Amino acid sequence: MTNKLKVAVIGAGMGGLAAAAALRKVGHDVTIYEQARQFARLGAGIQIGCNAMHVLRGLGLEDRLRADTFYPRSWNNRDWKSGEVLFDIRFGAEAEQAYGAPYLLAHRGDLHAALASAVPAGIVKLDHRLTGIDQTAGGVRLSFENGTVLPADAAIGADGVHSVVKTALFGDDEPNFTGRIAYRTVYPAALLTGVELLNCTKWWGEDRHVVMYPVKPDRSEIYFVTSQPEPGFDLESWSATGDVHVLREAFEAFHPEARAVIDAAPSVHKRPLVDRDPLDHWADGKVALLGDACHPMTPYMAQGAAMAIEDAAILSRCLDGVDRDGIEAALARYEATRKERTSKMQFTSRQNVWGKGVTDVDWVYGYNAWEAPLAS
Ligand SMILES: Cc1cc2nc3c(=O)[nH]c(=O)nc-3n(C[C@H](O)[C@H](O)[C@H](O)COP(=O)(O)OP(=O)(O)OC[C@H]3O[C@@H](n4cnc5c(N)ncnc54)[C@H](O)[C@@H]3O)c2cc1C
Repeated sequence: MTNKLKVAVIGAGMGGLAAAAALRKVGHDVTIYEQARQFARLGAGIQIGCNAMHVLRGLGLEDRLRADTFYPRSWNNRDWKSGEVLFDIRFGAEAEQAYGAPYLLAHRGDLHAALASAVPAGIVKLDHRLTGIDQTAGGVRLSFENGTVLPADAAIGADGVHSVVKTALFGDDEPNFTGRIAYRTVYPAALLTGVELLNCTKWWGEDRHVVMYPVKPDRSEIYFVTSQPEPGFDLESWSATGDVHVLREAFEAFHPEARAVIDAAPSVHKRPLVDRDPLDHWADGKVALLGDACHPMTPYMAQGAAMAIEDAAILSRCLDGVDRDGIEAALARYEATRKERTSKMQFTSRQNVWGKGVTDVDWVYGYNAWEAPLAS
């Protein structure tokens, strides 16, 4: 590596951390700017698809994640009322053999901490909320709310669905609110009586569903997340709380096994579900978007973070060995390589039929971003 670029990554979410780790692997000098004053451990679970695990393995995180997460036999899709199994997406050894990497169920905080461990703490600049970005003859200039103005050779906007970088590049428009709310919680399995949660289960109702799974290897912590209509609530935040009584009422007609898991939750959070249509462009000059900043999707395939993590590997491959003169072409190549797959994921996820009946899952889990062909 002869040409070390100074790359600024905006946002230390899953995508930003993965991008920073991958870019460092190909020798670039990366700094991450994050608006938060400290990292918070969000009460949520996250499914780590085999496709995301390929990337995380390449970042050296496989052992840590296997030790910290639950290894499911399947994603079992069941009818809300009868309990009939509609389709079983097989994981465990079978998926590992088919796709070359495990499917894991994690606490979101554990995955985030693992990704944070993949970069030196010193490169993460907390309390840096980006407010402006300008392209200059020599690269980019970043302005922050705290008054700092900093240069970089290139910038990556990994700043989530309300991306300031996206707005600066391509204009401001609100994401689509689906009209649906996700209630979610993580709680100790000791609170659950009478039923055992052995796998990932999605209970499909007529206009609502709930997904539940353990997030620890010993199943000591349980997570569930719903999707249900709730007009009039649009406060997008990971910390907004919900009312357990409203939640229990919304699922009171569900199968007793589903209800037992919902009813045992002592408290819940809630947030509206949003997505976007695919953007026309993700890259402009020496700046590109990554993750939810460019392709936010409903969580119905559990692939949003996986797409951000895949983006990170492809971005690093496109910027491998590139000098300042090659940045624009490399970022255009990154966009061209990723767009078709993430757009398909956005549309498929929006339909909310993943696993409801017989589903071809190979195209999602069988993708390895370290080896996939790059656009020419
Ligand atoms: C209920 C729910 C369940 C989900 N389940 C799954 C799942 O099981 N599996 C899966 O793969 N995906 C899942 N997802 C999707 C996943 O959460 C997102 O796709 C993922 O978090 C996107 O990561 P990101 O890094 O692109 O953005 P974010 O996680 O939003 O991170 C953006 C970061 O940028 C920072 N930031 C924002 N603005 C600025 C600024 N101006 N300056 C500096 N920093 C800034 C933010 O503070 C944040 O740290 C789920 C989503 C939801 C809502």
